[in-house]
Amino acid sequence: TDRLKGKRALITAAGQGIGRATAEMFIAEGAELVATDLNADLLDGLDCETAALDVRNDAQVREIIDRVRPTVLFNCAGFVHHGTALDASDDDWAFGFDLNVHAMFRTIRAALPHMLAAGGGSIINMSSACSSVIGAPNRFVYGTTKAAVIGLTKSVAVDYIKQGIRCNAICPGTVESPSWHDRVKALGEEMGSYDKALEAFVSRQPMGRVATAKEIAALVTYLASDESAFTTGHPHIIDGGWSGQ
Ligand code: NAD
Repeated sequence: TDRLKGKRALITAAGQGIGRATAEMFIAEGAELVATDLNADLLDGLDCETAALDVRNDAQVREIIDRVRPTVLFNCAGFVHHGTALDASDDDWAFGFDLNVHAMFRTIRAALPHMLAAGGGSIINMSSACSSVIGAPNRFVYGTTKAAVIGLTKSVAVDYIKQGIRCNAICPGTVESPSWHDRVKALGEEMGSYDKALEAFVSRQPMGRVATAKEIAALVTYLASDESAFTTGHPHIIDGGWSGQ
């Protein structure tokens, strides 16, 4: 219950799904947490400081991070574009990269000086098994952005390893969350059957089920804590065996 005691943490997209489950675990483990989301209403009920934060807005990112001065930063915000290279517009591409990748540059750029001043820190970036790890159908923009997150993570890790700052990425398989339910519904409409769509998502997970957000939060908590002091620069795959066959 005190694995994160003394850590000042900031989470983006903490309103629902993996971000929220992680916020709850960080609080339970004694972190001093500021939970943020584009939609601040979603942060209701979290027993910590909360703030509206659009990670696409650099001024907002700087203002909040300069105030919070986190030594743990969980970059969770991200968006799934559905489609192939022929389905994606330039705008889809630009939006995907802005939210899934550039936003991490913004928060990390703002947080690094504070971590350097504090003598260290831990940055955890949300990638996906669908990235440079594995290709998934209709995830052209998404998989490309999540692969970029791994490169970004390795670059930050190598540049700051001597200053006590660790930077890791996590690569979940399919995880139950509000936006995942929306994706199943949308695919169900496309396939003419919700059950078939659900089966398509579940069957690619060799364990025969998708992950709970809490299972992913446990990995983020480990990477935020000093228990993971010897790991940096890696994509940590947690995908129910999807890519490990
Ligand atoms: P979700 O998609 O249901 O929720 C996303 C949250 O992001 C919402 O609370 C939303 O308000 C917030 N958000 C959207 N735009 C934002 C912005 N500009 N600034 C700040 N917050 C913003 O949650 P999820 O499915 O747990 O996904 C969270 C992250 O995990 C994403 O990066 C996603 O790509 C990644 N991921 C999800 C899965 C999955 O199967 N659910 C698998 C691998 C990776």
